[in-house]
Amino acid sequence: MSGERVVYMDNNATTQAAPEVVAAMLPFFGEYYGNPSSMHNFGGQVGAKVDTARGQVAQLLGASPEEIVFTSCGTESDNTALNSALASQPGKRHIVTTRVEHPAVLNTCQGLVAQGYEVTFLKVDRQGNLDLEAAAEAIREDTALVSVMWANNETGVIFPVPEIAEICAAKGVLFHTDAVQAVGKVPIDLAGTAISMLALSGHKLHAPKGIGVLYIKKGTPFVPFIKGGHQEHGRRAGTENVPYIIGMGKAAELARTRMDEENTKVKALRDRLETGLLEIEATMVNGDPDRRLPNTTSVSFEYVEGESILLHLSSQGICASSGSACTSGSLEPSHVLRAMGVPFTAAHGSIRFSLSVYNTEADVDHVLANMPGIIERLRAMSPFWAKYQKTQCATPGYVEP
Ligand SMILES: *Cc1c(COP(=O)(O)O)cnc(C)c1O
Repeated sequence: MSGERVVYMDNNATTQAAPEVVAAMLPFFGEYYGNPSSMHNFGGQVGAKVDTARGQVAQLLGASPEEIVFTSCGTESDNTALNSALASQPGKRHIVTTRVEHPAVLNTCQGLVAQGYEVTFLKVDRQGNLDLEAAAEAIREDTALVSVMWANNETGVIFPVPEIAEICAAKGVLFHTDAVQAVGKVPIDLAGTAISMLALSGHKLHAPKGIGVLYIKKGTPFVPFIKGGHQEHGRRAGTENVPYIIGMGKAAELARTRMDEENTKVKALRDRLETGLLEIEATMVNGDPDRRLPNTTSVSFEYVEGESILLHLSSQGICASSGSACTSGSLEPSHVLRAMGVPFTAAHGSIRFSLSVYNTEADVDHVLANMPGIIERLRAMSPFWAKYQKTQCATPGYVEP
């Protein structure tokens, strides 16, 4: 790909580290290599910078610095939250979560089921929304934790997380949110919420891969996941990953100061892309259009394979991702689209475009210039498409039995 044009629209998978973030990190690979826990000034000055970064993250979240714990990634933060809720309340063996969580929560919960815990996986509707009454009803005497993601990584659908947290607080149940996709895209002010724990990940908001944060509200019972030294006030052992923590802090500051402006710009680009893509016949957007992240669109192109679309896009330098994963040789539509009841023929041909502030109008033009031809060529080879056209049925999702 070197020298060729790259149009990167896969920012929900990972983002480019901001140049400002990289610049802030560099001195901590060289000159400032001290251990923040050391008694000497050489280490102490590094410790002070770690505290600055902690403050930057706290400010982005409307939290206080003591509530911020640095981890190695979003997945570790999610695992820590689930593990802690169970370990700190040994009598409670039930968790409530949703069917559309990221594997960091979903697979961890499935693992807990295998260990004998009970988990309720809440349904979503066709638009990807949760039923709050059903969520409230799922809470039991022995519920240790409710864990609901803030925004979905595949569709961008936003759940009413502060409201769910209130429901939990009223019932005296801990509430965790995987906010990896929401932080930096949705305004968050934790001080005014009943959220007990929140996970975020650096590489989804222009910090590098390998740094995460777990917010733990003051007063929340907590048991560490990684045990050892007294780092992070005894909540996450292991010598601090200083350069990455500095980068995380800088990325949080950038997100806080630029969020509104960036989201306005990114949303306009996303909307233009989406409108253009919907002009292609037999396409639809997955997820509630009114409750979505500003950067994400999941579009289904019926009767084509998502993987094939991706390969064609990739040959034009366009990076996106598909709503299906090749598991054990057969293409399985994503668990998120399946949970939403997206028809098989549409789920298979779904493509997620996730934009960032680094995208341009020219990027959108490049995708819109290429997509109709790609879909047309693939459909020309699709027996399902020929069948669909014969039925002359205008209803997307209909396939002749
Ligand atoms: C990427 C992602 C994660 C995992 O974060 P990592 O830092 O890659 O471990 C968890 N949840 C959601 C919603 C994500 O998009």
